Amino acid sequence: MKLAALAFDLDNTLINFMLFKRKSAQAAAAAMVEQGLPISKEEAQGRIFQIYSKKGIEYQKTFFDVVYPFHLPLNDAERIQQAGILAYLKTKFAVLHPYPDVPQTLHELRSKYRLAVVTDAPRNKAWQRLILANLAGYFDIVVTYHDTNSSKPAAAPFLKLLSSLALEPSQILFTGDNLSRDIRGAKLAGMRTCFAKYGSIIGMDDSVKPDFEIERFSDLLKIISSIQ
Ligand SMILES: [Mg+2]
Repeated sequence: MKLAALAFDLDNTLINFMLFKRKSAQAAAAAMVEQGLPISKEEAQGRIFQIYSKKGIEYQKTFFDVVYPFHLPLNDAERIQQAGILAYLKTKFAVLHPYPDVPQTLHELRSKYRLAVVTDAPRNKAWQRLILANLAGYFDIVVTYHDTNSSKPAAAPFLKLLSSLALEPSQILFTGDNLSRDIRGAKLAGMRTCFAKYGSIIGMDDSVKPDFEIERFSDLLKIISSIQ
């Protein structure tokens, strides 16, 4: 069936999410140490990433958890925590960008296909990221974690995409950086799949075979002209 829509994962597929997390954590660690957190910047940054790996990258009380174990006087703890939060946000606003070729490629694709995002990010964070990256205007459909309360590779987010687009799975090409979540889930739903290799931090999962692979986002243009 003819390709009618392109759907994308958000983090590390459209936007350079890990760069933003790393730079923001660095800035937050420096600001907290400057305000009196009694450890080195490197250690503070290490603790931030330990919390992310334990509680998930979307965890919302990271800086509280960094400060809490030191049992500081409440005003000191609050000053340090808020310095961390503000430095994090300031850096987020400065560094949350799409990969360089994303806006132009989406612009070209938009004239021929319907475009959608399916992300495991919470609804508020997904929209913050789309707006900060200047991508909010490109998509007909955005499916966030809160639309189904389940994460890829579960069927629910993909079924939500299908019903929102009112298309058959074979009419959709799904692109994402995570083989076991994006590619596995989209394949199970019957969509064609494209692995965004440039964003992959977990590496290969040999049990999942995408239909296509791209080294950069704009490679999609070639792939699409080859499958029509
Ligand atoms: Mg991703």
